[in-house]
Amino acid sequence: MIKNLKLAASRPDLRRSVVDVNGIKVGQEFVVIAGPCSVETEMQTIKTAIAVKKAGAKMLRGGAFKPRTSPYAFQGLGLKGLKILDKAKKETGLPIVTEVVDTRDVSWVGEYADVLQIGARNMQNFSLLREVGKSGKPIFLKRGMYSTLEEWLNCAEYILAEGNPNVILCERGIRTFETYTRNTLDLSMIPAVHTESHLPVFVDPSHGTGILSMIEPMSLAACIAGADGLEIEVHTDPASALSDKEQQMPIPLFEVLMEKLRRTLAFMEELNAQAQAFAPEGKVQGPETLGEAPNHEDLTTKSTHPGKTFTDAVD
Ligand code: PEP
Ligand code: MN
Repeated sequence: MIKNLKLAASRPDLRRSVVDVNGIKVGQEFVVIAGPCSVETEMQTIKTAIAVKKAGAKMLRGGAFKPRTSPYAFQGLGLKGLKILDKAKKETGLPIVTEVVDTRDVSWVGEYADVLQIGARNMQNFSLLREVGKSGKPIFLKRGMYSTLEEWLNCAEYILAEGNPNVILCERGIRTFETYTRNTLDLSMIPAVHTESHLPVFVDPSHGTGILSMIEPMSLAACIAGADGLEIEVHTDPASALSDKEQQMPIPLFEVLMEKLRRTLAFMEELNAQAQAFAPEGKVQGPETLGEAPNHEDLTTKSTHPGKTFTDAVD
């Protein structure tokens, strides 16, 4: 049990929060956010948006402000990038998830973004957290690369304390002694967050591993572990990408992953339904395991954790 949390802590009745993003019920349905690491061109972004939507993604990601290790690396297109994202939204209807890195940018970036992303490097930027809290917009709060669960949830608390209940967490890997992968993707945080907090938790297997061949297995594992969704980098031509070219998924691989996710979710739902029959005394104990439907706010259809489904896969 994590102490000192007031608003981010799990509720006595274990009710989980649902964050509404333009009608998409995050925390209730399984949501995939996909798109390029960086917005590079209009053509690249719109082509990607159309393709990921067709494959079943519910929101478009794309960085217009890139926090890069080197000041000489591509920093993103800024306002021009946001305008491109806006065109992609008009074209596809996909809500936009994009990072904000500076307190001074929150209000105007918020005019283009449906969800403001706080990147790992800014997780503990408390003035930025307060500012996005004041914005009232849905916030996608990534785990800092050196952060404990307690620190991460306290950062969510900063946003919630400003009166903004719309916080989505995202595990994106942490620094450990292992250097084979870009980060060590800590999937144990999914059930940990669900135990300690009512907030939805996503997984970013792209930054979490940095290795293309690992995106699919880690995505499926996250889904089985009960993640509320995924954020995945997808590029029309990864080899030419201006950032993170090693980890961006080409569209055909993303399409296969989405189909496997659909089947995994269906399998989990079936398994959860069957668990009632094979558990001792016909009932599985505890809402965090496989048993009763969680008491989601706004939950209309009976679904068990982690047996979420894509509501409407492909338009
Ligand atoms: C990103 O998602 O664009 C990103 C930079 O990720 P992170 O902050 O997790 O490194
Ligand atoms: Mn990236």
